Amino acid sequence: MESIITDAEKSLDKALEFYERNDVALGYRPSLRYTDTICPIRPDALACVKAEFEIVDKYIDFFYKNLGIVVWKGLYGLDISDEAVGEITRITKNRLPEVVFSSYPELMSEADIVIFEPYKEDASSRDVTMAHEVWHLIEKKINLLQEHPFIAEGTATYAMMKFAGVNCDRPLEDFDDYLMMMYHGSANIVQNYVKNSKNPYLAMLDVDLRLKIQKELLDRVKPLLTDKIKKMLEPVEMHDAEEKMLKQTPEFANLVGNLTAENIVRAYRQMGAVKLVDELQGQNLDGLIYWFKKFGF
Ligand SMILES: [Zn+2]
Repeated sequence: MESIITDAEKSLDKALEFYERNDVALGYRPSLRYTDTICPIRPDALACVKAEFEIVDKYIDFFYKNLGIVVWKGLYGLDISDEAVGEITRITKNRLPEVVFSSYPELMSEADIVIFEPYKEDASSRDVTMAHEVWHLIEKKINLLQEHPFIAEGTATYAMMKFAGVNCDRPLEDFDDYLMMMYHGSANIVQNYVKNSKNPYLAMLDVDLRLKIQKELLDRVKPLLTDKIKKMLEPVEMHDAEEKMLKQTPEFANLVGNLTAENIVRAYRQMGAVKLVDELQGQNLDGLIYWFKKFGF
């Protein structure tokens, strides 16, 4: 564990120097912490910025607002309204402390960057990972990190690839997997907008330009979304992370061994999702049952 941190500190040095040379210095030395677990948001991640967990509620708002209806329709085959999406969004956000943080208490430590178990096995990605995480911290410092997950991952990935001297030339539509699309597909769109700037790093911090990038991202992501989410949820380690979080919700925990359409509806009713329950009546819930089963219920 000691040696992992020592090693990570060296990668951190390189990332900090890189941004300093490019006139976007972070201005402080972030603290690191290693934990022998996987990242709940992205199981294959080597590291993440702690701030990403502090703003999970913002991410949830963003995803549900922009993509909620598409997911319910595409993944579960169910029609629900904006109002029902808004209701379940509020409930999910209220549940965050017990659901996310009680599952992963180590994420609430003081460290700026949390390093996960896969880091040990992947020596070749350590420098670029640190370049990616430090970019998140640069955006956090000026309060940009909390707005848009797609653009946050797109800019961090673009900065990371520049650090590695590699272009992000593959368009978003080329990526089969949702996470690859979010990271590398978004990075391609970011690249299109900033590559001709005198300083692409400073250009990425421009709020107006980010709004334009975000708009194009969403316009292109929405039609592709559900197939890619299904692919993202295929790997077993993704099930583990989802399962752990879903089972922390007491109403869902009761579904283990009792997975029926009626019980799922009852769980949502107990959570207070009245509108959602109302809209689910009379619809075929097989799609929803299928995904709960996949997550170990
Ligand atoms: Zn990231």
